[in-house]
Amino acid sequence: MHVILLGPPGAGKGTQAERIVAEHGLVHLSTGDLLRGAVEAQSELGKEAQGYMSKGELVPDRLVSALVAEKLKTLDEAQGFLLDGFPRNEGQASDLAGEPRGRDIDHVIHLRLDDDEIVRRLLLRGRDDDTEEVIRNRLGVYERETSPLVALYEGKGLLRPIDATGTIEEIAERIRKVLRPSDTGSSEGSAA
Ligand code: AMP
Repeated sequence: MHVILLGPPGAGKGTQAERIVAEHGLVHLSTGDLLRGAVEAQSELGKEAQGYMSKGELVPDRLVSALVAEKLKTLDEAQGFLLDGFPRNEGQASDLAGEPRGRDIDHVIHLRLDDDEIVRRLLLRGRDDDTEEVIRNRLGVYERETSPLVALYEGKGLLRPIDATGTIEEIAERIRKVLRPSDTGSSEGSAA
């Protein structure tokens, strides 16, 4: 199974991603985590990415798409994956579609949350790049760059909208229903 996890900052992508990969045996590819790792290691990529990340801007596509392509190449055919935080704009979506392993996406999970709730959650989280100014910038970037992907994947019949309010477990259950193969038919339940 090949899954993209899409949603605004603060929607709980990381938390839900960890559950999804554990339940479905997927490899978790989080560009945010990979980039933070690169910054920490002060690799060439990290040094270049750092400035963008601290301002809440997108790291250039050529860097991020190359990073994802490199990771996808290490997976064997049968290995499912979850892309968390990628693609973040139309350029990255088309880079992904150009990758042999990126073409056959099964589901795009779209975590939906309104702006007030996003800001509230991000301020609670308190990561280094979660100051109010940076948060506002990241939201603007999301609206401008990332939200067009909703229509793109909807057009491909891949979009699975998920209400991202409520508890972690409630949200996880909504996602589970979408990803559970048995729910594509009507094999479950008491009505026969
Ligand atoms: P995240 O952990 O997904 O919230 O990402 C944290 C930061 O990493 C973002 O604000 C961006 O600066 C950068 N980043 C993560 N994923 C991407 C991506 N797909 N494209 C560009 N920048 C990214």
